[in-house]
Amino acid sequence: MTTREAKINLMGLSLPKMQAFFLELGEKPFRASQTLKWIHQRGVTDIDAMTDISKPLREKMKSVAEIRLPQITQEFRSADGSCKWIVQVESGSSVEMVFIPEAGRGTLCISSQAGCSLDCSFCATGKQGFNSNLTVAEIIGQLWWANQKLAGFGVKPAQEWSEDGKPAQNPRPVSNVVMMGMGEPLLNFENVMDALSLMMEDQAYGLSKRRVTISTSGVVPAIDRLKDFTDASLAVSLHAPNDELRNELVPINKKYPIKELLRSVSGYMEGLSDRRVPVIEYTLIAGVNDHRQHARELAVLLKDFPCKINLIPFNPFSLSDYRRPSSSSVSNFRQILHEAGYTVTVRTTRADDIGAACGQLVGEVGDNTRRSQRYRDAAEAQKGNEQEFAVEQRSETAAEVTGKRFSRADNLAIEIDRPRRPSV
Ligand code: SF4
Repeated sequence: MTTREAKINLMGLSLPKMQAFFLELGEKPFRASQTLKWIHQRGVTDIDAMTDISKPLREKMKSVAEIRLPQITQEFRSADGSCKWIVQVESGSSVEMVFIPEAGRGTLCISSQAGCSLDCSFCATGKQGFNSNLTVAEIIGQLWWANQKLAGFGVKPAQEWSEDGKPAQNPRPVSNVVMMGMGEPLLNFENVMDALSLMMEDQAYGLSKRRVTISTSGVVPAIDRLKDFTDASLAVSLHAPNDELRNELVPINKKYPIKELLRSVSGYMEGLSDRRVPVIEYTLIAGVNDHRQHARELAVLLKDFPCKINLIPFNPFSLSDYRRPSSSSVSNFRQILHEAGYTVTVRTTRADDIGAACGQLVGEVGDNTRRSQRYRDAAEAQKGNEQEFAVEQRSETAAEVTGKRFSRADNLAIEIDRPRRPSV
């Protein structure tokens, strides 16, 4: 094992896998904790810098292993303190991650796949097609980089943020992680589970299970097996109150309809040792799923399903005809759910000056599915038609169409799991 490619990447090893690595070397398993601390708490990527490990052992480690990170190719800092980084992974694609600071906490939104094989109708990531699952190192590497960029190594663990929203002295900047970036995390199951275990491992990042959230579009078999691997928090991209509409918005619903999905999520939540509820994510799209009747239907659907509801006003992107709902329709929708007894939040826009607000995440994906080309062709055809129409009508329509951004229209649920948030 002498080539760079053949070496084991220690960045991607969970505690049990790191222990197995040292056992394989004929060493004691406690070396795993030492190594995890060096990498994930002190930010060290040079094995020679691990000074409490003997030089002969470091040489032995270096002969078979190394520490490899995904590359940060661009960084954007928002006026509101948010940050977005473009992360290049080994497949050659790029994904995005975003850090959103708020009073009492800092949330990092992490990607799990380059592109997505599902094709939710309101989501630009889905329209990019699919390239690859991220490795464990590429997933946990996003958290490593955020700590590195935000000077988070060597400071106190994130859970020392107090639950009343006031930060403890000198807390770690990333206190919450949401698996809500690009991709469906449960379709990259094994790698995401290992990355989650590192996030919550005391020898690594030590994040509380309440502060690490998986967001899923509803891969029921994976949710059914989730409790055997993790006790992280859960968010569900529902977006519709009935199967007919959800089939249109979230096509995986045709395979795993709402009733099955809610049954599976309930099973997971009931298996947790504490009383947590899932967050239901509902993207409000003008004229599609934002009518008062939809709110009433949603209230009935979830009446025996303990949860919080997060409403996300849709952000338009160039390959979608959907529109953002009016403030009054968002407000009416929220009010109906609130009066029905639900805790409801409406996601606020952050970091839109750096293209990192909800609905603006999109990477560079080498699509393996040809889906992105089909969407581009359709958009070009439509744009041509609209430009012709605009010329005839001497209107601004075509300029508006071409000025739209190709952006991701889903899943920066930064409002989730906020402790002691008042009902609205
Ligand atoms: S919403 Fe999530 S699951 Fe659906 S296409 Fe987008 S990234 Fe994939």
